[in-house]
Amino acid sequence: MKPVIALVGRPNVGKSTLFNRLTKSRDAIVADFAGLTRDRHYGNGRQGKHEYIVIDTGGFEPDASSGIFREMAKQTQQAVAEADVVIFVVDVRAGLSAQDHEIAKYLRRLGKPALLVGNKAEGMKDSMHMSEFYELGLGEVYPISAAHGQGVRPLVELALGQL
Ligand code: GDP
Ligand code: MG
Repeated sequence: MKPVIALVGRPNVGKSTLFNRLTKSRDAIVADFAGLTRDRHYGNGRQGKHEYIVIDTGGFEPDASSGIFREMAKQTQQAVAEADVVIFVVDVRAGLSAQDHEIAKYLRRLGKPALLVGNKAEGMKDSMHMSEFYELGLGEVYPISAAHGQGVRPLVELALGQL
């Protein structure tokens, strides 16, 4: 069974951009993995000798009964439950938010292997932008730029190294 990597984080941090970087095909794999729910975005990825599945979250319409925040929380929880390892994406330009704290608290409580990734870090040499994220209690923040493809290749290795 391929390892499953879930991408979580508040809206607009760049999860879907990263998903597209980490996957080459999408949506075709669901039928092969009976354990996985069908209402989220799954993609197959391969890097060197590593083959993996990536789950994107947050790109779905909330149903009528639940608000957007409840829906996000639900998707995050389901994706995290299915994953072997979580990539928690934060936005180093926007800085730390209350939602980041909520997600971090949830991940710490579960104790699931997680890698904290600071996206939108292109052109940012200043490590001051990264240091505030230590507050999340998930260790070091790995700077990447999903849009520019910087730091993305080592991510899979780092994420799977948490297992
Ligand atoms: P999601 O809501 O977390 O899935 O975020 P998206 O992948 O949809 O990206 C949200 C916005 O951030 C889009 O306008 C992206 O183009 C932008 N974005 C994503 N990655 C980067 C990045 O590495 N650097 C910059 N500057 N913008 C990015
Ligand atoms: Mg998205």
